[in-house]
Amino acid sequence: FASRDDSTPLVVYDPAIAEWQYRQQLLMLDVEEALKSGDMWLEYQPKVNIRDGRTVSFEALIRWRHPEFGRVAPDQWIPLAEEFGIIHTVTLWVLDRACRDSHPLRAKHGQDLSIAVNVSAKDLAHSLFHEEAGAIVRRHKLEPANITLEITETAMMSDPETARATLHTLSTMGFRIALDDFGSGHSSLGALAQFELDELKIDRSFLEGVLDYPARQKIMIAAMELGTSLDLDVVVEGVEDEAIALWLHQFPGLHGQGYYWGRPFNLRLRNH
Ligand code: C2E
Ligand code: MG
Ligand code: MG
Ligand code: MG
Repeated sequence: FASRDDSTPLVVYDPAIAEWQYRQQLLMLDVEEALKSGDMWLEYQPKVNIRDGRTVSFEALIRWRHPEFGRVAPDQWIPLAEEFGIIHTVTLWVLDRACRDSHPLRAKHGQDLSIAVNVSAKDLAHSLFHEEAGAIVRRHKLEPANITLEITETAMMSDPETARATLHTLSTMGFRIALDDFGSGHSSLGALAQFELDELKIDRSFLEGVLDYPARQKIMIAAMELGTSLDLDVVVEGVEDEAIALWLHQFPGLHGQGYYWGRPFNLRLRNH
């Protein structure tokens, strides 16, 4: 019986990995400076009412153009910032900017417009988060009810007790709470009932093949009906083409977000 060749070292020094890790650390050293210098900015993507096309909300999405590495997508660095313990600074900065920008956006799109900000699990673990968030909102003469905090399933599940307690406080203060990327993580359906939610964002992976496979259609419909039956605003994420938009049109009260209705835009470059 031939066993595995155990002369193979378990950890291999790979210069490419070492280089990558070094680059990650360099990136993290630049985060706070980038927030100040203008290398980071927010873009806003609409969420629309699918039936009448009206914009009900804008989600703030962070952008970073690094002087040396160029564009760095949030998926590439946000998880690092969480690991390095600096996501909290980022989140408060995003909330502050989004509150400021909500004034021109609301003037243009209506006062009941909600501004959505992504929040990480690490933020929810921070005991002062609700106070800091409340103070920022007040400083901009807004109500918590004007702001939607988007939290991913994974964030809620990594420390459900803390997440539930913080979300309860934030919800009591009036913040709207959205469950982001629903269906992409590893929560059980029962967990949905444990959190005080206002909005359910159905992950765009649910849309793959939805027009071609009856089974996928049924799953998509079940996910949307689950949200509606829990009295949540349901947002379908990642709608890119008209065929899917038309299919979604048959469901009343549904909201959507995706390139079909609008890509994230820079408020400072375009006249919105
Ligand atoms: P998310 O919160 O689920 O945001 C939606 C992502 O999907 C955005 O990517 C958006 O640009 C993209 N998207 C929107 N419509 C479409 C579409 O029709 N098709 C496709 N393929 N993609 C679409 P982005 O901006 O790269 O952000 C990725 C993720 O990074 C976000 O996912 C969120 O989890 C995180 N993120 C972004 N900004 C922030 C932030 O300010 N703070 C935190 N903590 N996380 C952020
Ligand atoms: Mg989001
Ligand atoms: Mg999402
Ligand atoms: Mg996502």
